[in-house]
Amino acid sequence: SISGKTAVVTGSTSGIGLGVARALAEQGANVVLNSFTDSDEDHALAGKLAQDTGAKAIYVQADMSDGAACRKLVDTAAETFGGADILVNNAGIQHVAAIPDFPVEKWDAIISINMTSAFHTTAAALPRMRAAGWGRVINIASAHGLTASPFKSAYVTAKHGVVGLTKVTALETAQEPITCNAICPGYVLTPLVEAQIPDTMKKYGMTREQVEREVLLERQPSKQFATIEQIGGNVVFLCSPHADQITGTTISVDGGWTAL
Ligand code: NAD
Repeated sequence: SISGKTAVVTGSTSGIGLGVARALAEQGANVVLNSFTDSDEDHALAGKLAQDTGAKAIYVQADMSDGAACRKLVDTAAETFGGADILVNNAGIQHVAAIPDFPVEKWDAIISINMTSAFHTTAAALPRMRAAGWGRVINIASAHGLTASPFKSAYVTAKHGVVGLTKVTALETAQEPITCNAICPGYVLTPLVEAQIPDTMKKYGMTREQVEREVLLERQPSKQFATIEQIGGNVVFLCSPHADQITGTTISVDGGWTAL
């Protein structure tokens, strides 16, 4: 059981991260919520999660584009709850543009937030997992960690990198009670995806329903979005004893996308 263990979920004030944090809190884990902001609402979110689940939850501000801040997030979790047993690297942003037009600052932000942050948090968490004699690193990659789409150069590059880091982390911990895996969602209707809909509607002169079915779900054979709850359930599974020998691999939750 993960009751009483401590979970750090990066980028968890919204979407998949918040859903994963909720799923872990429902199992009794102490949860550290994170984003780059530091508002009353952020802290209230942790309060509500604790109230809803009976688990302990705090909010810790840390910008995942800052390596030192990534490491400090893990340290703060350990100082608060006595460990950092479950690390879910989830923070991520998107930008869509052709390579010649891709803004360099967007490239740098996506590479650092979506990929390099996981290196820093993992570096900080592994010694603590070793000291505790148990650990789980779960990277939220993407179907775009396994396949590509045009105009998403930074995102696809970062997510492929995360899948690579997942394998190396698994090999470096292979003989210890620590595992590292990546979950590769197809499209999940979160604020990140929601934000892409209006532009796409305008670009192709489509309705919202057309964009959802013909653009977003074009490559998702099930023609259904994956859900936040499904991602949370897979994270909980990876923390269970059934998953003790699952390491260095990817779990696709993509309605058949990567079978195409
Ligand atoms: P979201 O925009 O709803 O949530 C992203 C979270 O990251 C937010 O809490 C945001 O505040 C936080 N964040 C952004 N920049 C940050 C920074 N610099 N430092 C710390 N936190 C930061 O997005 P989502 O759809 O829930 O995506 C979560 C993860 O899942 C991302 O890594 C994304 O690439 C991945 N993913 C999403 C989908 C999808 O269809 N939604 C599919 C595959 C993979």
